[in-house]
Amino acid sequence: MSSDDDSDQAIDVGGILYHERLTKTLSRIFQVNKVLYAGRTKYQRIEVVDTPDFGKMLILDGKVQFSLKDEFIYHESLVHPVMLTHPSPEKVLIIGGGDGGALKEVLKHNTVKSVTLVDLDEEVMKIVKKYVPEMFKDSLKDPRVKILNMDGRKFLAETENKYDIIIVDVTDPFGPSTLLYTKEFYQLVSNALKDGGAMVTHSEGMFSCRKEFVTIYRTIKTAFRKVRACSAFIPSFGDVWMFTIGSNTLDPVNMDVKIIEERMKKRHVETRFYYPEIHKVLFTLPKDLLKDLKEMKVEISTDKSPVQISA
Ligand code: SAM
Repeated sequence: MSSDDDSDQAIDVGGILYHERLTKTLSRIFQVNKVLYAGRTKYQRIEVVDTPDFGKMLILDGKVQFSLKDEFIYHESLVHPVMLTHPSPEKVLIIGGGDGGALKEVLKHNTVKSVTLVDLDEEVMKIVKKYVPEMFKDSLKDPRVKILNMDGRKFLAETENKYDIIIVDVTDPFGPSTLLYTKEFYQLVSNALKDGGAMVTHSEGMFSCRKEFVTIYRTIKTAFRKVRACSAFIPSFGDVWMFTIGSNTLDPVNMDVKIIEERMKKRHVETRFYYPEIHKVLFTLPKDLLKDLKEMKVEISTDKSPVQISA
């Protein structure tokens, strides 16, 4: 079949097709059975769609945030490696995470005494609660949870609180989250951590945004002595997703499987994707990426010239 027919074939699969722009030059098209909600909040465009391949999906400013089919892979990879590297995380801060995914994973750790979630957009949370109740489940009834709707960076600049773990799960670096991937931001994160604390942020696609990932990784290194990255393939993102951990004392790469096992058991952490033996695998990065982390020429992301995903 000639390439023209192929392209007709791709367009003509029937039903609604969603065209997601990963970058200026890379897009994905997936079929949508039903649009459950489409609108604009004060800060971003929002759609909730139901799809044959990924189930329900949240899309913000045209970028897939999670799909019910594989959100557990993303949120378990974001939360458990850093939480289990900490001997006893009690006070946790989530910046962003308005879809409830990171929150439900953090609450699984019975060491947690309080988790504060600071998401800019109250409407995103309302719409997720209404159209994808599976994400928040009973998290918001948990007495340990405190929700604030404001800019995460402003919160960090104003808070006197100190946290054991800070999880940054904001939208890709453009629009409202642009200043949450800069040197100045990670300094604020570092200032809000207790001694022995650690932060983690998702840090873009290993293939679709290699340069942006290396930039974020190097920028985190300006604020923390130990910076480690782990990764997991997220089918609904169409790429291997990177998660970068920063700490001055903790090192997730040297975690002993036995210790992870003990801590999971003691904390009653139940998972579907993450387990002790996979921890090391998540931190084992391909050789070409290790080379890029060492040698790729990138500029540190600053408030004046922040890393941006051009979509
Ligand atoms: N897992 C997703 C990803 O990989 O991009 C992120 C999910 S979560 C829905 C992203 C959240 O970041 C949204 O709810 C959005 O409102 C929030 N957000 C964006 N900019 C923010 C800011 N400046 N402060 C706090 N939250 C912000």
